Amino acid sequence: MRKKIVAGNWKMNMDLAEGIKLAGSIDKYFSEKPAEKVTVILCPPFIHLAGVHEVLKHGRVALGAQNCAAEASGAFTGEVSAWMVKSTGAEYVIIGHSERRSYYHEDDKLLNKKTLLAINSGLKVIFCCGEVLKEREDKKHFIIVKRQLEEGLFSLTSEQMDRIVIAYEPVWAIGTGLTASPEQAQEMHKYIRDLVKEKYGSDCSKKLPILYGGSCKPSNAKEIFSKPDVDGGLIGGAALKREDFVGIIEAV
Ligand code: PEP
Repeated sequence: MRKKIVAGNWKMNMDLAEGIKLAGSIDKYFSEKPAEKVTVILCPPFIHLAGVHEVLKHGRVALGAQNCAAEASGAFTGEVSAWMVKSTGAEYVIIGHSERRSYYHEDDKLLNKKTLLAINSGLKVIFCCGEVLKEREDKKHFIIVKRQLEEGLFSLTSEQMDRIVIAYEPVWAIGTGLTASPEQAQEMHKYIRDLVKEKYGSDCSKKLPILYGGSCKPSNAKEIFSKPDVDGGLIGGAALKREDFVGIIEAV
């Protein structure tokens, strides 16, 4: 049985005090819930990681970063390495988010480098993949996701794959209010699981958590999460409001 995961990507929102307040209220809500059912992860901006860790460190809500550098250390002004992320108390890092791919031109090769550095630093990676609208309209969505996984992820060993969570995020559904239908999500999640099975075998593919991301809300989460290959969600906008994020956790 795979454990469900709900991860909140705060993006570049909230100052430190607001972030600490939100993290504290999620931690309080979650500490009153039965253990083991779901893993909740909060991914604030780098600058808030250590402060939010102070709030979460005695509870069960995990901490993650939204990105890390493609180099281990050195003269890279403004960058934050995977090891630095780990030293804040974070356990996870999101790699390959579509906003990083499109606004910062991060390609599969670079994302592969970041993924390996993150794993070698002791982090778990939430690896994002997904097609843009034109690619879906042209019926190229499977080819695109396959390429993103083969080039970004499939150089990993099976042991390293144990530290991976995949997030399928159709780019046309991120922050747009459009959501993939539960059937579209299931179809792609099954495809991803089959690719992993082909490459790493059935044990690995059965264990691998695959999250859906793209305009998830309390009102649509339950139906999407009920599909057999959907193991939870990576949440953007709705992770910024306690009621919405809690509503999504409840949907799991
Ligand atoms: C995201 O950015 O990962 C995301 C899923 O955003 P939203 O939920 O706002 O579509």
